[in-house]
Amino acid sequence: MKSLAIFLYTLSLIFQVGASYQSFRLINIVKKYRFTCIALTVALTFMIGRRIVPLINIYEHSVFDIKDAVLSLPISLLLFVGVFGIKSALSEIRKENSALETLNAKDSLTMALTKKETYVRLKKEISRGERSLHPLAFLMIDIDHFKSINDQYGHMVGDTVLKNLSLFCQHKLRDIDIFGRFGGEEFLVACPETNAKAALEVAERLREAIAKESFAMVDGQEVTLTVSIGISIFDPQSAHHDSLDLAMDQYIDYSDKAMYCAKNAGRNQIKIFDEQMLRSFNGQTTGNS
Ligand code: GH3
Ligand code: MG
Ligand code: MG
Repeated sequence: MKSLAIFLYTLSLIFQVGASYQSFRLINIVKKYRFTCIALTVALTFMIGRRIVPLINIYEHSVFDIKDAVLSLPISLLLFVGVFGIKSALSEIRKENSALETLNAKDSLTMALTKKETYVRLKKEISRGERSLHPLAFLMIDIDHFKSINDQYGHMVGDTVLKNLSLFCQHKLRDIDIFGRFGGEEFLVACPETNAKAALEVAERLREAIAKESFAMVDGQEVTLTVSIGISIFDPQSAHHDSLDLAMDQYIDYSDKAMYCAKNAGRNQIKIFDEQMLRSFNGQTTGNS
């Protein structure tokens, strides 16, 4: 009987320690209900004492209660199974949530970041650039005469072209570069720690590579395209702005204006934003009004 009691209490102790450990791991999984998990962990840890004290009594005084020993085992076992189950379920939910977040952040056709997510990341990058005083380059990429690809080959081929172009660009860029779909056939790239010279090199490399690539095959015929790229450089050492949002909008707008200048200059080329462009755009809008 004594050996059986020792065996049952020892097994209970193991499960009790296991339950307490699983509960402790819950603290790192949940954020909102952390205090509840701490309370549960403390309670379960104190219960370890209730499994140790009977063992001490058996060894020191040869006193034991076999009914208590029998009952302690299912209690500890069920506590372990319950807390382990809760921890596993919450870990799974956390994984699913993070997979869903990743999926939501990407445009389903092109796997580029959505416009919303691009804004979120840009804002973080601008504020990081301000702290490190590194420039951030914005590249607005727009496919030339994309409408005619749709018209000639159909919308499905147009979709394939968009998807392949997006994957092609992402492959050519660095992991730290932000690549988002900004409009139907417009993509915005933000390159951290990139000055005007480096941005021009990146853009030129992309433009050339894109012009040489085939983005779909129709009846044995390669579908090729060209892009126009507008660049603007956010330099925290010289830029003055009232808020991160305003700075972001302004530099996106500058890259867009530069991209339109590239279109006007004949497409399949790159333009870097300068104040002169702003004047000519302002001139156009005043002229139109
Ligand atoms: P430009 O050189 O001036 O940029 O000419 P463009 O034809 O590329 O530009 P425009 O703005 O006239 O036309 C853009 C076209 O992009 C029209 C639209 O049908 C197409 N488009 C936008 N989103 C998608 C899409 O998700 N799939 C497909 N297949 N086409 C799209
Ligand atoms: Mg276009
Ligand atoms: Mg466009």
